[in-house]
Amino acid sequence: MVCKNCSLKPVIELTNNNVKLCKSCFVKYFEKKAFRTISKYNLIDSKDVIGVAVSGGKDSFAVLNIISLLANKKRDIKVKVIAIDEGIQNYRDLNLLKKYCKENDLDLNIYSFKKEFGMSLDIIKDKIHLKPCSACGVLRRLLLNSKARELKVDKLATGHNLDDEAQNVLMNLFRGNLERSARLGPTTGVRKDKKFIPRIKPLYFLMEKEVATYSFIKKFPVDFNECPNSKKSYRSEVRMLLNNFEQKQNGTKNAIINSFIEELPLLKKKFENAEIRSCKNCGEPCSSDICKACELIETIKTKPLKKI
Ligand code: SF4
Ligand SMILES: [Zn+2]
Ligand SMILES: [Zn+2]
Repeated sequence: MVCKNCSLKPVIELTNNNVKLCKSCFVKYFEKKAFRTISKYNLIDSKDVIGVAVSGGKDSFAVLNIISLLANKKRDIKVKVIAIDEGIQNYRDLNLLKKYCKENDLDLNIYSFKKEFGMSLDIIKDKIHLKPCSACGVLRRLLLNSKARELKVDKLATGHNLDDEAQNVLMNLFRGNLERSARLGPTTGVRKDKKFIPRIKPLYFLMEKEVATYSFIKKFPVDFNECPNSKKSYRSEVRMLLNNFEQKQNGTKNAIINSFIEELPLLKKKFENAEIRSCKNCGEPCSSDICKACELIETIKTKPLKKI
């Protein structure tokens, strides 16, 4: 079997249509699909300052490259890289990212849980009864939003791919949380609020294996360490379930996203009047008096370290 477009050796078989592509045809396909998502869903406007949330993993390097390629073409958009150091021993190491940003002249801004909340995730997780990923997600979302706002970023690009979104859709369905699903999509949120920096997902229609292949071909300095907390998460169970289904029924993940995208406008409409309040403590946008991050920080402050 050879590449569908030329006669070179294929590096990947795309899901659904049995199409095989060689290295250079695949890179063209990948970038075209990401750019098409950006233009179809109006993810980026001229003169936008785009913050790119980068963890050092394959997805974040891929989205950073897509946004950088766009910034090189459209000279009127600016890029700022934002990274969060949660403080997870033997995992989070941002040295490769620092080197990459220096070599590529990218404006890198790093914020740590330790500096911003007074302690690392390794300490926090011993003080709470939540799963580490739940605490990590709440605090990271707060930091990304508040720091993006401080940096005067218009939109925050994340490396979420089709697999991540299919997991989100299922997790919300299993938990009966439709309102949360209404906030998903290539651009997040139901309504605009000046305190909330919209998140954009240029890799929305690209599968995880495609992002991995692109990162490998592009030789990004990806940190392949796996977070020691990831296996304890609900997401990891849903990921396994979805991967099993995909293996038995090719195209399952694509089908979930295609049907979700069709119903998304109705979902957004249903929840468009949901009130957005400001946290009485930190002022961040939230749905109740006190945001989840402040609730969590308050619990941490008042609880002694759990005995291990
Ligand atoms: S796997 Fe969980 S704890 Fe680890 S970085 Fe991701 S969200 Fe945070
Ligand atoms: Zn080819
Ligand atoms: Zn708050």
